[in-house]
Amino acid sequence: MRTCRESHELSWRTYNPGMSCLFCRIIAGEILGSRVYEDEALLAFDDIHPQAPMHVLIVPRLHVPMLNALDSSHDALVGSMIRRAAAIAKGRGFDESGYRTVFNCNAQAGQTVFHIHLHVLGGRPMAWPPG
Ligand code: AMP
Ligand code: ZN
Repeated sequence: MRTCRESHELSWRTYNPGMSCLFCRIIAGEILGSRVYEDEALLAFDDIHPQAPMHVLIVPRLHVPMLNALDSSHDALVGSMIRRAAAIAKGRGFDESGYRTVFNCNAQAGQTVFHIHLHVLGGRPMAWPPG
């Protein structure tokens, strides 16, 4: 079976997520996560290795491997991810104290799961620049 990354290099547009993409498997319910939000386009769940008291991942149901694969057809989808991050942070009471949103893209930024996801972190002071 092709890995998610290998399939991306062939063509993410024709990629059938099947069983090889971790986040597609979570979306499909094959791997249980702690879901905090879902709608027809997005799923949000707690990160399994939280880096802050709130560490939620927001993922589109659509398999897009990384930011480099986005085009204008995804603009509304990505906008909805960012607005959902703000709504989740507000729901946790971090809208006034502050929170951080992060998209990692490719290896040097630390991307390990090649299905785009927005990290939403809050509940502690955060350093800048990031490590
Ligand atoms: P990134 O390094 O930006 O690709 O982020 C991937 C994130 O997915 C990491 O923060 C991991 O802790 C998280 N992660 C990996 N496996 C799972 C899982 N089964 N459920 C929830 N989060 C996960
Ligand atoms: Zn996927």
